[in-house]
Amino acid sequence: MNGARGITVHWFRRDLRLEDNHGLFRALSEHGNVQPLFIFDTGILDKLEDRADRRVDLIHRTLEDLQRRLVERGSTLLVAHGSPVEVWKTLLDRYPITAVTANHDHEPYAQARDKAVGELLAGRGIPFRTFKDISIFERNEVVKDDGGPYTVYTPYMRKWKSLFHPSMAQAYPSEKHAEAFRRSDPEPMPSLQQIGFQPTDLVVPPMEVSDELLRHYERTRDLPAVAGTSRMSTHLRFGTVSVRALVRRSLELSPKYLNELIWREFFMQVLWHFPHPEKAFKPAYDRIAWRHDEQDLARWTAGLTGYPLVDAGMRELSATGLMHNRVRMVVASFLTKHLLIDWRMGEAWFAAKLLDFELSSNNGGWQWASGSGCDAAPYFRVFNPTLQLQRFDPALTYVKRWVPEHGTVNYPRPMVVHETARARALATFKEGLERSTVTAAQQRMF
Ligand code: FAD
Repeated sequence: MNGARGITVHWFRRDLRLEDNHGLFRALSEHGNVQPLFIFDTGILDKLEDRADRRVDLIHRTLEDLQRRLVERGSTLLVAHGSPVEVWKTLLDRYPITAVTANHDHEPYAQARDKAVGELLAGRGIPFRTFKDISIFERNEVVKDDGGPYTVYTPYMRKWKSLFHPSMAQAYPSEKHAEAFRRSDPEPMPSLQQIGFQPTDLVVPPMEVSDELLRHYERTRDLPAVAGTSRMSTHLRFGTVSVRALVRRSLELSPKYLNELIWREFFMQVLWHFPHPEKAFKPAYDRIAWRHDEQDLARWTAGLTGYPLVDAGMRELSATGLMHNRVRMVVASFLTKHLLIDWRMGEAWFAAKLLDFELSSNNGGWQWASGSGCDAAPYFRVFNPTLQLQRFDPALTYVKRWVPEHGTVNYPRPMVVHETARARALATFKEGLERSTVTAAQQRMF
């Protein structure tokens, strides 16, 4: 504990919870007099096009809840709005801050932000301690025997499991140290409007997932009509649940569920090792002659392709901010193969709309679908959206939920014929990839 009245600030970012929070636990148990902080970062908010963004609404509602609970404990949450370095300069003038804690965030933007804030704090002699919290393994903790990164999921998953020990999923009981929060009168929080946003129709996915669901997960996870997946992705994104708690339950209830959580960490470490999400992971795929067709793209985003499973998924996304994983794969394949539109266009649409948007998983998912990514399905594997529908939504329950006009004259005819579109995709991919081989070979001559 600091003897003086020095304040330790715990800076919340994507760890918006009081329970089982590693960085917060360390601040409370090792420092004391802890002032929690959240910054609405204008560097991120200014880039959002929609002023009614469900994610901003979700963060705001979560902060209101945290504020209520901290006030009950005689403390308060500080909520600032601005560029992090500028906000920190103001805070350092206002409070006797002697230490800062936070949890790791390895996205490229977050790393640059933390470096800048870390330098500012170091310049004032203030330690900035950060901790692993959002994953079991991070950065280069799971690598090949030769030290190189894994770029294929299955060997990564096996190595992950061989290195895993249950103690790594133990909770950090931050909630047991509530007395170590700084005592303070409540600080007012900016409203959504004050930070430039509007309330939305957000429906927050439930925070609880039942044992029953996890037990049946392997059987139900591919059926979009059934509530058979955990719907934890949004909570994992914002840290409103602890990944350690989910891993502990998966060990008990569902090995398949653990594998999915490992997919998340697989893509996180890919982004950490290869921080260039704008480029095709396999460079040859940047030679494919994508079609630039605004009208086709608009039909896809609106869910008017004439393929019911694709349309249902795209409409679910716009209406709720979420889409079932099976359907994400089908719509992504449809855009990149059937319509031959660059995966980056689809990735950007998902990034704007998804409540659970995670750069690493979204980029990984899109590159997987287009064939350009790690562990890619070969490009010649083109999902047939009609067969996918027959297999995963045979009673059309999911389709009818999102495409009520399906089966009437008001529903559009398919915008492309599957066989023709498939042949066009195969020819175009082949040509692009062969061209790049020639170019690479030619380049070697010089
Ligand atoms: P569950 O099936 O219950 O899975 C449990 C958890 O495992 C998920 O919450 C998620 O954290 C993780 N997970 C499951 N599948 C994957 C996967 N394929 N890749 C990475 N993590 C996974 N997931 C995101 O969290 N954010 C994204 O931006 C995102 N974009 C995607 C884009 C495409 C094109 C595709 C094909 C997949 C994307 N996914 C993304 C992965 C997956 O679709 C979602 O994680 C899943 O649908 C979330 O629902 P759930 O929580 O019910 O999943």
